[in-house]
Amino acid sequence: MQDPIKILGVPVHAMTMQEAVKTLEERMLAKEQTFVVTANAEIIMMCHENAEYKKIICEDAELVLPDGAGAVWAGRHLGYKVPERVAGFDLYNELLDLSAHKSYKAYFFGGSPGVAEAAKAKAEELYPGVQVVGCHNGYFKDEDVPQIIADINASGADMLFVALGAPKQEKWLVAHRAELNAKILMGIGGSFDVLAGKMERAPKWMQDASLEWAFRLYKQPSRFMRMMALPKFVIKVMASKF
Ligand code: UDP
Repeated sequence: MQDPIKILGVPVHAMTMQEAVKTLEERMLAKEQTFVVTANAEIIMMCHENAEYKKIICEDAELVLPDGAGAVWAGRHLGYKVPERVAGFDLYNELLDLSAHKSYKAYFFGGSPGVAEAAKAKAEELYPGVQVVGCHNGYFKDEDVPQIIADINASGADMLFVALGAPKQEKWLVAHRAELNAKILMGIGGSFDVLAGKMERAPKWMQDASLEWAFRLYKQPSRFMRMMALPKFVIKVMASKF
């Protein structure tokens, strides 16, 4: 795997979507477990504010990809070659497509009751042949965890998608990865909601114009405080250049 670039001290693998999928598949076939994080500006800023989370992203994740216009801009502003944005939702869909073609098994864990199942139904419509071998919602008690892990392992899943929101999903994956047999471990935030049609994603033109954050804020004004990380991120990146 190529050496990562550093954005505010966080290692980021500046690769294309195609390279990311190829890397994940090769490692899966080699039976190497990969904890993959699609890091946007919010996640990179979270690393600055929370030492435990920083360790998870900087030391535990094997693959950290540049998600969001902010991460791509930052990498380029710092003088690195960042070929493209590798958004979590897009990578999730690419891996589902791969599952459909190669019969790799996927497990959907997270979201409100019924959402993972609705995302599974949509995945089966979009990617005929996709192997979604199990679902579990993301509202559980600590004592349920052993049963959830047993269910994931019994399903024979190769890829585990966890939608508990950041940083909960990354913390959960790192705490339990040693007990999990799946080879691709990925936190995907609200992606089941988007795939299931419960939450809208920004239109393509807004994604292309780096305005996905504005769409998100318009749809979920409650994210305002979280999104204050974005201007802070820009200032920090500009300052870090000098
Ligand atoms: N969620 C969950 N369990 C929890 C908290 C959240 O399953 O204890 C789910 C929630 O239903 C939603 C997703 O996690 O589907 C969080 O989505 P969001 O877009 O907020 O993700 P983030 O941007 O925080 O990664």
